[in-house]
Amino acid sequence: MGISSVRNQFGGQCYKCGFWVEPGTGYFEKERGKKGWRVQHCYRTHNGGVTCEMVKKKFGKPVDDPVKTP
Ligand SMILES: [Zn+2]
Repeated sequence: MGISSVRNQFGGQCYKCGFWVEPGTGYFEKERGKKGWRVQHCYRTHNGGVTCEMVKKKFGKPVDDPVKTP
């Protein structure tokens, strides 16, 4: 049983890239000792999965990344 088998039922902020994860397009984990869930994007794009790379391309760079201005 890996994390890859658990799709997120609810939306949440990806803890890897910081962008929003739509319900059903990523994974969630229950954090031991903490309340709530941790959500991240998919590793692959199969079955409607959305990866961090996909949202970065769609929405731009995360806030903590250096932004290049033309
Ligand atoms: Zn992500």
